[in-house]
Amino acid sequence: MMRHDVDIVGGGCVGLSVAKHLTERTDLDVAVLEKEHHLASHQSGRSSGVLHPGFNYPLDSKKARFATEGTAQMKAYCEEHDVPCEELGVLVVATDDEEETRLADLAEQAEANGVAYELLDSREAIREHEPHADGQAALHAPEAASVDAEQYVYALAREVREAGVTVYTGYEVSQIEAAAEGADSTRATAGSRSRTSSTPQGSTPTPWPIRSASARSTKCPRSGESTTRCVPSAPSSVKR
Ligand SMILES: Cc1cc2nc3c(=O)[nH]c(=O)nc-3n(C[C@H](O)[C@H](O)[C@H](O)COP(=O)(O)OP(=O)(O)OC[C@H]3O[C@@H](n4cnc5c(N)ncnc54)[C@H](O)[C@@H]3O)c2cc1C
Repeated sequence: MMRHDVDIVGGGCVGLSVAKHLTERTDLDVAVLEKEHHLASHQSGRSSGVLHPGFNYPLDSKKARFATEGTAQMKAYCEEHDVPCEELGVLVVATDDEEETRLADLAEQAEANGVAYELLDSREAIREHEPHADGQAALHAPEAASVDAEQYVYALAREVREAGVTVYTGYEVSQIEAAAEGADSTRATAGSRSRTSSTPQGSTPTPWPIRSASARSTKCPRSGESTTRCVPSAPSSVKR
């Protein structure tokens, strides 16, 4: 296994996106280590792929910003990379008066967050959008969409490979160890420690291991200290 500046553990959409953004912003030699032989074998390839347009998050929250901006960005990405994306919208259906009151709150938030919406006030209006839905009122958010989650992972993988990232599949990281102070600290920031990622195929020293084996993973190793490193904002290798 070759030595790389950054080893990203986990080749889901988060790990591959981190690889994409690192290669776009730096000259670092990046690798992604994925334990499965096929990408998209876990959450990223199996999710419903719904783009939530952000009507259900409080104004000025990061979730609201990421959802609204992220939905637009994901649609543009899918268009550019031929990832199937169905713009079907979503319906939030109220079946009683109490739920209908909550629709008004959602509508207010949608308005504040700049998310397109329409309030539907009859069964007939709801059924025009979804014949199988039943309720007394609904909020329709037309910007919601659903992407092909698996194809999205493949598109990211194609992109990062073309940008020079090495994607190792079938490489399960079993250990991340902190090496001695000063050892192999090439391109790491002053005073930082080198680390070694170990897989059954061998070990490799890396200044910057990034753990993106998903929040649900209980098996991805951590070293004694945090293995997640933030890329410094201005190392010499960062492109301006
Ligand atoms: C049923 C379901 C539905 C969802 N629906 C939606 C939705 O509609 N919209 C939405 O935005 N989000 C949805 N999500 C959430 C979304 O899928 C996740 O937030 C996202 O996929 C997480 O990506 P990830 O890269 O962190 O994780 P993963 O895709 O799980 O990737 C982690 C990768 O790390 C690898 N790995 C683990 N341990 C190691 C190791 N030791 N060494 C090497 N590799 C390792 C795994 O094999 C895996 O490929 C859904 C999730 C689920 C489960």
